[in-house]
Amino acid sequence: MSDDIPFDKTLDLAPDTVDEPMPGVRRVMANNPGPFTFKGTISYIIGRGKVAIVDPGPDDPAHIGALLDAVRGETVTHIFVTHTHRDHSPAVPAVKAHTGATVYAEGPHRASRPLHIGEHNPLDASGDRDFRPDVMLKDGEVVTGDGWSIEAVTTPGHTANHMAYAWKEKNVMFAGDHVMGWATTIVAPPDGAMSDYMESLQKLTGRDETIYFPGHGPAIPDAQRFVSYYILHRKAREASILHRLGKGETDIATIVRAIYIGLDPRLTNAAGLSTLAHMEDLVTRGLVATNGQPSIDGLYRLAG
Ligand SMILES: [Zn+2]
Repeated sequence: MSDDIPFDKTLDLAPDTVDEPMPGVRRVMANNPGPFTFKGTISYIIGRGKVAIVDPGPDDPAHIGALLDAVRGETVTHIFVTHTHRDHSPAVPAVKAHTGATVYAEGPHRASRPLHIGEHNPLDASGDRDFRPDVMLKDGEVVTGDGWSIEAVTTPGHTANHMAYAWKEKNVMFAGDHVMGWATTIVAPPDGAMSDYMESLQKLTGRDETIYFPGHGPAIPDAQRFVSYYILHRKAREASILHRLGKGETDIATIVRAIYIGLDPRLTNAAGLSTLAHMEDLVTRGLVATNGQPSIDGLYRLAG
């Protein structure tokens, strides 16, 4: 189903070593490969001398050590956090303690919507609920360091607090998990929301950054074209769901089996939650009906 997006799954980067994919952008990848993280979470270093770090990564001493080694002899003045999943932000306290840097983010971890009565949050373990930024950024705010200006770009959807960061002078974007080069982003309620996510993708099409550096996977050249593929992919998935519902009332597990062909079995739950995210959006838009609140084991039918 994802064959429509020009993914690039080549990433020639050993864990916990530093490389410089473009002048002024260095990266260090954590050694946390997996079905959700690809080869690992990537921390970025912006500038030289007085630098910023984007996403210090998981609470992994080897990764924190490698990141601090990469900036030895330099001053880390700023830490930017794209979002509060456990593979992105838990290294913040250690890196802040070693560097004294100020921590910037949209805000603490939170869900996109309140839990329904009786609903348990399947994503509880993935959120870094201890995270608190020193400075909460608003959309469009610009933070200036030594040789760089970073614009905060709110991009909710993957999480409610997701923030991408545009480096104005270089015309590049640190995209976090909003847009990735190797796979589609997971949008899983209640932490994520499909309507927010689609809006955040549309928002990027009005911007002019040409290269994205994602939280997982290789740099994305021709970023605008890539985002347009991402949007088309979501619309195609929505159309598949509606097509399936056109054959009669059914549940999410049946839809996942029908439309996610060749799915890695480790991603079955995530595919179910992504489909639930579409259902919530379709119910809100009045296209699909269900009994009560949309839920992972509810029955769905075309409205009207
Ligand atoms: Zn994430």
